Amino acid sequence: MIRGFVLCALIGYYLLDTLAKLLNLRSLKTQVPSEFSDVYDENRYRRSQEYTRTNTWYELVASTTTLASLLAFWFAGGFEGLDQLIRGLRLPNIFAGLFYLGALCVARELLMLPFTIYHTFAIEQRYGFNRTTASTFIVDRLKEWCISGLVLGGFVLIVLTLFESFGLRAWMIAWICTAAISVLLIYLAPRIILPLFFKFSPVPAGNLREQVTEFCFRQQFPVRELLVIDGSRRSSKANAFFTGFGSNKRIALYDTLINNHTVPELLAVLAHEIGHFKKHHIVQHFLFGQLNLLLLFLGASFFISRPELFEAFGVTTPSYYVGLALYGILIRPLAVLLGILANFWSRKHEFEADRFAAEALGDPSPLIGALKRLSKDSLSNLTPHPLLVGLHFTHPPVLARVLALRSLDGQLQSPSQV
Ligand SMILES: [Zn+2]
Repeated sequence: MIRGFVLCALIGYYLLDTLAKLLNLRSLKTQVPSEFSDVYDENRYRRSQEYTRTNTWYELVASTTTLASLLAFWFAGGFEGLDQLIRGLRLPNIFAGLFYLGALCVARELLMLPFTIYHTFAIEQRYGFNRTTASTFIVDRLKEWCISGLVLGGFVLIVLTLFESFGLRAWMIAWICTAAISVLLIYLAPRIILPLFFKFSPVPAGNLREQVTEFCFRQQFPVRELLVIDGSRRSSKANAFFTGFGSNKRIALYDTLINNHTVPELLAVLAHEIGHFKKHHIVQHFLFGQLNLLLLFLGASFFISRPELFEAFGVTTPSYYVGLALYGILIRPLAVLLGILANFWSRKHEFEADRFAAEALGDPSPLIGALKRLSKDSLSNLTPHPLLVGLHFTHPPVLARVLALRSLDGQLQSPSQV
């Protein structure tokens, strides 16, 4: 029963995702949408479509390999074989669990590594986005593995200790601990983790700094630091974000963003980010994520010690750690559904933040300009298929955003002068 359900869910989602990608390839148009004819010449547009095609085939090969490897591991008795191997070491259950889950993570990481290398050094390189050198790439991966090893290892250690001590009742405490770890990570990420990868420096004094400071003051948005990130060391793609709580906020702009945009466009991007904050999107997404985790832990308390689960994957000796790994596969359909819901919600929030930015500046055109330039520079697909958007997009297609902003024209008043 469980075996059939998991197989159907894995293959069903794979087929749906593949269908979405193929439909997306078919929905590529040969004509530049008229809204973008000022930023895309024919050559650039053709290149953006080639980029979408190349990425789609790359993703299809990657998702097929992942699914095929999982099924091969499963049907070759891999879950049982690995457990027997680790049981032979006669470790306490919690450490056996760390090894078991750790081995699965390492295997997955090694499987994906050639794909990441190909994506960075073949695809991104060919389209002129890659700026990473082999040594930066290797050091980045090592840092990433150390950090995720520490975070995931700590997480598994806590969860397994709780389940070993309190049995299935542990789910509630496990959830509280996980929520605490997530809050800690929000605090640590900009201070400790991101500086391991990027160099942050203050935006130099001048027009940009003055305008941003004045704008944030007008928006009553307390900013402690305005920083520039050396994103150009790795990729020519641009981004902006802000971090921090209360009056301790830091805005970070990629150098690639600063170099390619006018000051009004940068202000518009910033206003969009402030919009997410003012409309409480960030808090809402965090709470939604925690609610998801609560559901997942509650589900775990029902499933991780059921004999049928172990039987379905051919495991003979039940344990919390194997149960946790198998539950992770069983629960995928729910995780996919929650993901689709979160993406839908996020796209709605993007429209709201765009509207906020247009209202704050009293004019939608700087944001329209910025969005068009960003999509041109990153060779975005301008006509994605709705099924692909529904499944994977956290942001609405750029054309929809531009049209929504255009519809605000005439409704906006000039911002109040301070
Ligand atoms: Zn946004």
